[in-house]
Amino acid sequence: MNTTTDTLPQRLLLGSGPSPVPEQVLAALALPTLGHLDPAFGEVMDEVGDLLRAAFVTENRVAFPISGTGSAGMEAMVANLVEPGERVVCGVHGLFGERMADELARHGAEVVRVEAEWGRAIDPQALIDAVQADAAPAALFVVHGETSTGVAQPLDGLADAIHDRGGLLLIDCVTSLTGHPLRLDEAGVDAAFSGSQKCLNAPPGLAPLTVGPRALEKLAARRTRVPSWYFDLNLILAYVDGEGGRTYHHTAPTNMIVALREALRIAVQDEWLATRWERHRRAHEALRDAFEVLGMPRLAPADEALHPLLAVRVPDGIDEAAVRRTLLLEHDIEISGGLGPLAGKIWRIGVMGVGAQREPQEALITAVAAELGQGADDALAALQAGYAA
Ligand SMILES: *Cc1c(COP(=O)(O)O)cnc(C)c1O
Repeated sequence: MNTTTDTLPQRLLLGSGPSPVPEQVLAALALPTLGHLDPAFGEVMDEVGDLLRAAFVTENRVAFPISGTGSAGMEAMVANLVEPGERVVCGVHGLFGERMADELARHGAEVVRVEAEWGRAIDPQALIDAVQADAAPAALFVVHGETSTGVAQPLDGLADAIHDRGGLLLIDCVTSLTGHPLRLDEAGVDAAFSGSQKCLNAPPGLAPLTVGPRALEKLAARRTRVPSWYFDLNLILAYVDGEGGRTYHHTAPTNMIVALREALRIAVQDEWLATRWERHRRAHEALRDAFEVLGMPRLAPADEALHPLLAVRVPDGIDEAAVRRTLLLEHDIEISGGLGPLAGKIWRIGVMGVGAQREPQEALITAVAAELGQGADDALAALQAGYAA
C-alpha cells in the first residue's frame, strides 16, 4: 500500500484568504480524531466558546463555530434572525454586501439597500437615515471589513438607531475579526459571523458565530419555523450549549474545531488582542508605503482602510493577471485580483495573522518589483521604515 500522501506546493498565502496556517495549527489539525460526543471534545468546544468571546469582545452566551465557511455563517444568521416579509436595511459597498442582499432576498426579506461606491465606506448617517425612514425595520446589516475593496465600515450610531426601531444590528466580520479593532458589545452588535481562514489563520471550513440576548429573543418569538434544518440554532444550541449534556444534531467537524482552538489561542492568548490589532495596523501601513513606492497607491482613503486587507491600484498597461500568475507559479506567492467593477484594476493583499509581518511582506515586495522590472531597494526601505516607526 502506498502510505505517502500526495505532495502539494507550499505557497505563501498573501491574498484575500485563505491566509497562512502556522505549523502549530496544522499540528493541531492532525491530532487523533475525537467523536463529537466525547467529553474530551466537549471541553474543546467550551474552550473555543471562551476564546471566541474574547475575540469578539462580547459576553454573549452563544459563541461557536458554524460548520461551514464564512458564507455559512452569513446564511445561518439570516435563516435564524430574519423572517419572510421583514424589511432589512442592508449596506452594500462591495461584493460581500451584495452577497448579503442576495441572501436576505432569498429568505424572503424586503431589502432596503444603502450603497457606497466600491472602495469607500458607507456614511453611517445614510444608514441611520434609512433606518429612521422605516417604521419597523427588522434589522440593519453591514459588512464591517469589506474584503473586496479593503474598506472598514464605521459602526458609529448604528446600534442606537436600529435598536430605537426595535430591530437588530447584524454584521459580517469575516476579515476583520482579530485583525481590525472591533468590540461587539461596545458597538451594540446583536449577531456577527466570521471565518476561520482570514485573520485567524486556520484552514477554511468554519464560521465563528455569536448571537446576543436581543437576537435570541427574536429567535424565540419567530412566527415561522427557521427555514433551514442544518442551520436551525434551536437545534444546534442543544449540542453547542452543553447544559444538561450535548445532543447530537450533526457531526461536528472535530479536527477543524481543534485546529481553530489552537488558532484562537495564538490570537487572543499568546498575543493580546489590542497588541494584535496594532500589529496589523503597522503591517498594513508599512506595506502600503512599499507599494506606493512601486507606483501602486492604496484604493481606500486613510481613515477607511481595513488593516487586514490592503487593496492597491494597478497602473494601466500592466497585465495584472499575468503578473499574479507568475507570482504564484514562479515565486509561490498568492495575492488576489479585483472583483466586480474593480476586476483588472486592483490587487488585494492579505495582511492577516502571521501574514502581517515584515518577512513575508519583504518576499512579496521583492517578487513584485522583479516582475515589474523595477528595483526593490526603495520599496524595501519604505517597508522597513514602516516597521521602525
Ligand atoms: C471571505 C469572506 C466571506 C465569505 O467567506 P467564505 O469562507 O468564502 O464562505 C464573507 N464575507 C467577507 C467579508 C469575507 O471576507
